[in-house]
Amino acid sequence: MVNKLSLGLVTIVMLGSTQIRADERQFNSPDGNLVVTLSDNGGTPTYSVALGGTTMLMPSQLGITTDDGDLGIGIRLRDVETRTVTDDYTLATIKQSNIHYEATEALCHFYRGEAPAFDLQLRISNRDVAFRYRLLPTRNRRVAVVSAEATSFTMPEGTTTFLCPQAKPMGGFARTSPSYETSYSYDQPTGSNGWGEGYTFPCLFRTPGGWVLLSETGTDGNYVACRLMNNGAAAYRIGFPQQGEMNGVGTTTAAVSLPATTPWRTITVGTTLAPIVETTVPWDLVQPKYAAGRDYTYGKGTWSWIIGMDSSCNFDEQRRYIDFAAAMGYRSVLIDALWDVQIGRERIAELARYGREKGVGLFLWYNSNGSWNDAPQSPLGKMDRSSARRAEMRWMQETGILGIKVDFFGGDKQPMMQLYEDILTDANEFGIQVIFHGCTLPRGWERMFPNYVASEAVLASENMHFGQGACDGEARAAATHTFIRNTVGSMDFGGSTLNKRYNADNLTGTVRRTSDVYALATAVLFQSSVQHFALAPNNLTDAPAWAIDFMRAVPTTWDEVRYLDGYPGRYAILARRCGNRWYIAGINAQDETVVAKLELPMLGKSAVVNVYADDAKLNGSLREQKLRSGRINVSIPKNGGVVIVGE
Ligand code: CA
Repeated sequence: MVNKLSLGLVTIVMLGSTQIRADERQFNSPDGNLVVTLSDNGGTPTYSVALGGTTMLMPSQLGITTDDGDLGIGIRLRDVETRTVTDDYTLATIKQSNIHYEATEALCHFYRGEAPAFDLQLRISNRDVAFRYRLLPTRNRRVAVVSAEATSFTMPEGTTTFLCPQAKPMGGFARTSPSYETSYSYDQPTGSNGWGEGYTFPCLFRTPGGWVLLSETGTDGNYVACRLMNNGAAAYRIGFPQQGEMNGVGTTTAAVSLPATTPWRTITVGTTLAPIVETTVPWDLVQPKYAAGRDYTYGKGTWSWIIGMDSSCNFDEQRRYIDFAAAMGYRSVLIDALWDVQIGRERIAELARYGREKGVGLFLWYNSNGSWNDAPQSPLGKMDRSSARRAEMRWMQETGILGIKVDFFGGDKQPMMQLYEDILTDANEFGIQVIFHGCTLPRGWERMFPNYVASEAVLASENMHFGQGACDGEARAAATHTFIRNTVGSMDFGGSTLNKRYNADNLTGTVRRTSDVYALATAVLFQSSVQHFALAPNNLTDAPAWAIDFMRAVPTTWDEVRYLDGYPGRYAILARRCGNRWYIAGINAQDETVVAKLELPMLGKSAVVNVYADDAKLNGSLREQKLRSGRINVSIPKNGGVVIVGE
């Protein structure tokens, strides 16, 4: 393999009361534009990140603390092995189907005295920096307990933040937090620490030179899921779980068998939001943990609970939703909480048979509960340990159940991460797809676990049923998730409502503020390979025919995505490709109408496209239009949308 790396070794003499000599090394992305500078800084190693000569991260700390000591001080970089890494893979369940990954890798060996401290495995692609620590066994040590990471991310002066606070443990509905369901703040200065517990990943920053997205990937039962903490400075640090999570059971530390690697810390950078919308770094750095238990398929579904809530989880209503799904050409119906009590297993089997005749499969809801929540919603006690879980999954396999939605997890400690992994691993043996709710962020899971579909880890559509505030802020949230949450993992939002009100009668309940075209646009903006939309059977007759026809046809798997325009919390315009068809979708949360001249080089210069658009009063319509020199003018009123479909 040709080593394309340019490795510079620069020795800097720092002058002070004592003369300290630090070795500084620079590593470049394959295109040379993204540069990481590593220094052992006299014993406390740092890294910094520059894009096209502009600082994206200032010198930031490296290091890890284990029961063998603080491996962030008194250590030196001894030698580095570099190579170019490439990987070509396909993945139907994320934003892009065929991925070519290319990066510079530097394996940096840090020593404490004469003994190895850790290896830092650094990867630099053209848009992402990632690194992880590798801990090595010694003569006497085969295991280690990791209690902290020194890893920090120091933002340049003038940076503003787009962050979502971590909730305290054992709070919220039925003591189910933290579950990554809090509101974002926008364009805030650095230096805050959320509600005192830091922030959930991913975390977005606007620096003077562009945008920086921080996240992590590769987390499984071998580690804890982390958060981002701040103690009042420009430096954000990796934080471990909170002691109170999981009802206090288990430590906040990670116990590992040596050699061990930590999850990857990922830093995606760009002068625009394009690299963040388009990045595949969560999946580039991980490998499948097992082979697919069956040939999994994906697609659309319906879901009574979002409009009808718990009482709708009865036999007749679910049969009506199966009929509705069949009328839409959808592949699944999600039956939410309490089906075990309100329908019963025998009649679920009857619904499964009824659905099968109509080409509609079932997803079933479960409470994840062991000893970490007070949520009364059942089925209870079926997912937290192997014997009950496997017996349940055997029944599902015999009954022909497509998948499960498991809710109300207990935080980010290592035993909880093991539970996520165990549910996925067992489900795969029985050919069952898995959606998580009330849960942590997925971290590369679409590639690691072939039957993993999506996670909530967002303030999802349920909040619009629960309160008018979420309806009023719906467009703002959608213009946020497009650039943050959904860029690193499939998001089970359960949206695209065409009811005027969140109620089965469509006359009472909270009021939807967004347009029908907006509902169509979010079906494109929000990415998940399985989508249970918040449509209702009455929409077959009370929604515009063009909207229903669109919702019948819209794909849920995509070959490509491109950022076109937008700003977090204000508006978003993206293009997604399925086969040779492009879907360009935009929404607007601002009072001012968005007027944009879109360049669509992916379509022919005078391609004829279908345009779904709103007038100033949010009345939607469908028209055919010819591009002019590959361009089209769009205007998107507040709470409205636009969708352009063409080949
Ligand atoms: Ca939830």
